[in-house]
Amino acid sequence: MSTASKESAQPNDLQEVGRTPSGYTIYRQPNGVGGHSYWSDEIGGGVHVWDTCLVGDETLRACLEIEASRIASEDAQRSSSGGKEDADLCPICAEPLKPDDICATDISEGICHAACLEGSPVVDLDTGEETGGKADTYRYGDVAEPSVPKDREP
Ligand SMILES: [Zn+2]
Repeated sequence: MSTASKESAQPNDLQEVGRTPSGYTIYRQPNGVGGHSYWSDEIGGGVHVWDTCLVGDETLRACLEIEASRIASEDAQRSSSGGKEDADLCPICAEPLKPDDICATDISEGICHAACLEGSPVVDLDTGEETGGKADTYRYGDVAEPSVPKDREP
């Protein structure tokens, strides 16, 4: 990986200019051609946010709107497919695991539909050895945690 972007972010012309609502610091730096580069420490290091000469503000705004509508449509999709925000999917068939589905735990995939695991070797989860027997099955609803809205938690 190139270090060119790090070298262009010299600390001496980086200026702290503000904070995000979640407390990350925004830095600004002249980009040498009459505009500014914006950086943040959102993941702990210098993250390039925006270069005012390379990208116009209406482009940046359009990206924000596009991303917002992407998130909104994903949320809508999620709530129309059962309502549970973090619905688990069966890793084999990619269908959501519903409380009444009979499930079994695969050692590498996690919780799957028992039917989807049919035919694969049954392995003892403690020893990792094939048992040759039948997998333990259970109703998904018996293991799934009740969904508690995050903002209701203490
Ligand atoms: Zn499945």
